[in-house]
Amino acid sequence: MTDGDRGTGKRENEIIIGIDLGTTNSLAATVFEHGPEALHPPGGNAIVPSVLTRRDGGWIVGEEARELRTLEPENTVFSVKRLMGRDEADLKEALKHLPFSVRAAQRGLVKVHVGGEAFTPQEISAEILKFVRARAEEALGRPVAKAVITVPAYFDDAQRQATRDAGRIAGLEVVRIINEPTAAAIAYGLDQKQTGLVAVYDLGGGTFDISLLQLSGVVFKVLSTHGDTHLGGDDFDMLVAGELKRRLLESHPKAELDSPLASQLLRKTAELIKIDLSHAPDTQYTLELPAQGIAESGTFTAETLETLISPLVERTLVSCREVLRAAGKQPGDIEEVVMVGGSSRMPLVRKKVGEFFGRPLNIAINPDEVVAIGAGIQGHLLAGGRRDFVLLDVIPLSLGIETLGGTFSKLITANTTIPAEVDERFTTYVENQTGVDINIYQGEREFVKDCRNLGRFRLKGIPPMPAGLPHVKVTFHVDTNGILSVSAVEERSGTQAAIEVIPSHGLTNAEIETIMDQAVEHAIEDLNHRQLVEFRNMANAVFRGIKLAWSDAEAIMSAGQLKEIQAQMDVVREQAKGNDSVALKKEMDLLGDMTRPLADAIISKAALAELRNFYDETQHP
Ligand code: ADP
Ligand code: MG
Repeated sequence: MTDGDRGTGKRENEIIIGIDLGTTNSLAATVFEHGPEALHPPGGNAIVPSVLTRRDGGWIVGEEARELRTLEPENTVFSVKRLMGRDEADLKEALKHLPFSVRAAQRGLVKVHVGGEAFTPQEISAEILKFVRARAEEALGRPVAKAVITVPAYFDDAQRQATRDAGRIAGLEVVRIINEPTAAAIAYGLDQKQTGLVAVYDLGGGTFDISLLQLSGVVFKVLSTHGDTHLGGDDFDMLVAGELKRRLLESHPKAELDSPLASQLLRKTAELIKIDLSHAPDTQYTLELPAQGIAESGTFTAETLETLISPLVERTLVSCREVLRAAGKQPGDIEEVVMVGGSSRMPLVRKKVGEFFGRPLNIAINPDEVVAIGAGIQGHLLAGGRRDFVLLDVIPLSLGIETLGGTFSKLITANTTIPAEVDERFTTYVENQTGVDINIYQGEREFVKDCRNLGRFRLKGIPPMPAGLPHVKVTFHVDTNGILSVSAVEERSGTQAAIEVIPSHGLTNAEIETIMDQAVEHAIEDLNHRQLVEFRNMANAVFRGIKLAWSDAEAIMSAGQLKEIQAQMDVVREQAKGNDSVALKKEMDLLGDMTRPLADAIISKAALAELRNFYDETQHP
């Protein structure tokens, strides 16, 4: 079937959906006005297990077939993705793991034999695509003829071609084939970052892939890939099932646990336990095999699970090391780590990967939907759509506070995924200041007058101290609902205060875009103006410090040195009246060099505080 066969005289505005055709699960996504979303029929699930059972000359696809996997093994096929575009010679290893019959066909190709018939992997994948497409059409209430389909980054031409063919057999025009890790990065909006190195860690049902992407412009280049074609959630399930079996045999030594029914039950229970333990420290289970008089309950702890799977998780880190080595990179070179695949939800996996890369992970988008969502965004853009939706799970505009001279200090930058927490230390500017105003803004410009005020509060009751001595720690926390809370604590005295605000409140997507555009337009003039204000403030603080330390200076410096300092102070004063921030900074640096011996030697605490501010470049609210 082609586009024309759909029979509508007039074309609706085009829709190109994204499809993640996975080894274990498949699903579609597209972009709605409010943002991208996985497509599910009303009340239904977006995820379709990539499992098919042959019955009465037709196919049962998805959840139902998955149930039949162990009960009707001879009629059920799964993991067909492993066979796409491969010939018999490639397949020795894969075939060892597949219980259904796969045989050589003409031209070195393979066919899957099921229910007395033979099918190419393309035909079987097409059945999954048809099913996903039908659900997408149901969800959208309109026909779908075009799709972007994802494939693993390591897929060769033959494998990509086979995927394209599967699409065509399913009656879809495959507008583009894109790499799964690239789709995941697009879902997080990383293509808009312009530069940087992105690692995509994808732990699915039966496979593990780690990909290193280099971003240049809005294009991702795959630098290297590594992984394990037989490592994933299924293996974790097997380990848990093994433990359940061991326990059952302890209480029922004669139990027969290798029948299809018993294996099915063990596998299913194991997966439920595993999934539960992604958000609980322990879980209860019940195993019932009435025919054998077995009804056993027990508790499974996260600790037991982690002991079982830990060696496998370690193996994924070996691949991470390898992918970096191949590209000549270090973990510290990676700017973003994107987590993909249902199994990447496991707390042990997140912990280990976070430690390996030494940075927070991108986990805000549902890891089993993120590839489809990226493909959906790509399809939307190819159909002429605009990227003017706000990603639901990222902070759309930078958040920060007002600092001295009306400057805007960003604590959380735009596109940070939520939840997020950032803290930064500030100090006071005036002697014996007992209160600090925390004035919260949202925006991309350098001055708060060009940003949007979100709220303010005052941190009161700071004991009188010389300027520069208090340590005010300001913490911004955005929870999973996008609610921002800001707290401030003066660390020497323990004085604290806090406020809660909803940062995106009242802003439309179009307004956010305008704000972003203006930020780019004014970036250079803003920066110069901001620096000018900062350097003038700094100069004033340094002058005050020098004045306070002058008697010390007279004791330790020569008359010539003192004269030089005074002359340079005049130069700085003059320069501060102008508008050239670079020139001002240059003169300040000269003054800094001249007064550095003074800062090292003097004992006056207040003066030291002022001068130290200059050398530390601490900010003042
Ligand atoms: P694939 O890309 O291979 O098609 P998915 O990304 O859909 O696969 O991952 C499927 C795997 O994720 C299954 O093994 C499933 O048990 C596992 N999984 C899904 N949710 C969770 C969870 N909350 N905790 C642990 N594993 C999960
Ligand atoms: Mg996948």
